[in-house]
Amino acid sequence: MSTLSDKVFISPARYVQGANAVERAGHYIAALGGRALIIADDLVWKMAGEQLAQSLESEGVEFERAVFEGEASRREIDRLVERGQQQQTKVVIGFGGGKAIDTAKAVADPLLAACAILPTTASTDAPTSALSVIYSDEGEFDSYRFYNRNPDLVLVDTAIICKAPPRFLASGIADALATWVEARGVIRADASNMAGGRATLLGRAIGEKCEEVLFEHALLAWQANQAQIVTPSFEAVVEANTLLSGLGFESGGLAAAHAIHNGFTALHGEIHDLTHGEKVAYGTVAQLILDQTPQAELEKYLALYVALGLPITLKALKLDQASEEDLYRVAEAALKEGESSHNLAYELTPQQIVHALRAVDAHARAFMDKAISRE
Ligand SMILES: [Zn+2]
Repeated sequence: MSTLSDKVFISPARYVQGANAVERAGHYIAALGGRALIIADDLVWKMAGEQLAQSLESEGVEFERAVFEGEASRREIDRLVERGQQQQTKVVIGFGGGKAIDTAKAVADPLLAACAILPTTASTDAPTSALSVIYSDEGEFDSYRFYNRNPDLVLVDTAIICKAPPRFLASGIADALATWVEARGVIRADASNMAGGRATLLGRAIGEKCEEVLFEHALLAWQANQAQIVTPSFEAVVEANTLLSGLGFESGGLAAAHAIHNGFTALHGEIHDLTHGEKVAYGTVAQLILDQTPQAELEKYLALYVALGLPITLKALKLDQASEEDLYRVAEAALKEGESSHNLAYELTPQQIVHALRAVDAHARAFMDKAISRE
């Protein structure tokens, strides 16, 4: 069914954000009804599991915890669905980073259970969306899995998030900076958003606001994160990374930046040590170049990426030894049928993408040299 003549906007039912919000999680989760299955890895559980457990107990919510083994793969999802069936789970709680969150959504869907997402970092825009990114057990991009509804609750505890390494916040900023770059390209092409329709005025406004907040507050938020304090700028950027970026990409649309990210996951080696957002940063600059972005605007982005220590050279991406063949593999993966690179107003060839990947490196190095000689 094509709904492309319709405008479609989707979102989670409730979004809650604040310092120590996990202490109030029981109140919100009790309203979703019944027995809960918490999906969290050992690190997250050690850090904040006690707070969540106490909050659920105080509201009389029965729960069990399943240890998340680290990859949002079919095998891990099937294992946890089985566990949920055995204990008649009514609410699945995803507590952790992007992959735990994507797994929780994939587990809640076949169980017809409610879904509550409690991110412990602001490193991706996974929390709010009605889709998961599925990977192979080896960490290679496999597919997007779409659901009939978004999470019932997204609860963001900024006191937890400010203790996460600043690299995670920077990665989330990079993921969020891609939002408007990609959405405006999709809107220009009158192509489909991730909800299977055209962008509403609201979807568009959210993408624009996301970018505005980031250019005003990203650096201040990153500094607050280094000092592990919650400031108004930090709160604003956590909201931009999570809510604005999440609604903005889903109801605006994805384009080349994320397709190139997915292309990078087809490579082997050290690039797998980089976060989602770090690879998206490189893909975003590549799309800006393909979009023929004027120099002054391109440099505004480059300045922010450099200030946040994001990898925008081939060396920083650990691809300085990459062969031409490797770059073509990235480009071909980014251009696979169904990939979001086809949502732009212009057609792309593998060669154009390879040239854009090299152009990111060239422009970033020239920009950094210029910055040094000014000092
Ligand atoms: Zn993303």
